[in-house]
Amino acid sequence: MKFIYSPEDYLPLSGIQHFQFCRRQWALIHVERQWQENVLTVEGKLHHERADDPFEIESRQGVIISRSMPVISHNLGFQGVCDVVEFTPSADGVSLFGREGTYTPCPVEYKRGKPKRDECDAMQVCAQAICLEEMLAVSISAGYLFYWETRHRIEVVLDEALRGRVFKASQEMHDYYDRGHTPRVKPSKACRSCSLVDICLPELMEGIQPASRYIQNYLDAD
Ligand code: SF4
Repeated sequence: MKFIYSPEDYLPLSGIQHFQFCRRQWALIHVERQWQENVLTVEGKLHHERADDPFEIESRQGVIISRSMPVISHNLGFQGVCDVVEFTPSADGVSLFGREGTYTPCPVEYKRGKPKRDECDAMQVCAQAICLEEMLAVSISAGYLFYWETRHRIEVVLDEALRGRVFKASQEMHDYYDRGHTPRVKPSKACRSCSLVDICLPELMEGIQPASRYIQNYLDAD
């Protein structure tokens, strides 16, 4: 398995939330690409609503706020955009061009709805932090998720266990992508809130057996 990726290998960072939610959903969007436009168009609109002024940088009480910041990681093989990165003055941070002092970055991802029980959103913000660490040669201990429904931000502690799951997911994503593999349907509770349920048709697809099994059953019955 590759660990360091070339630019042509990079996958969209935001895909890690789809992958964590359902590997088949991610593959339908990112491997088969046949539904990519629908999903990414909606995501693009949402992203635009969240970050009104791409590349805008503002300063509030000493904290520099950068919106729609492009990020990349050679180790994860991801590229993407952070909704917001907050740079807080700190002694062990990094220098920023045109600014005095040193700063520690912290990614803040904006989400519709309310906090979820699963780890999809936390994985995304952790991947963003790994990108920032790699780009800026700095350590980041936490990121944040802001939910519009609750108007509240929650802290995501970037411990080794979470980082390990992000790296493992990134390796699996590249493996599936390289093989052009779309996992079979596994109906679950997630299907109820899946934006691709009408395309995936989990109930119908689950009943479809592979051709090899059909032939075997036919021969057995003969
Ligand atoms: S409908 Fe269910 S199995 Fe199909 S992509 Fe969505 S979550 Fe995955």
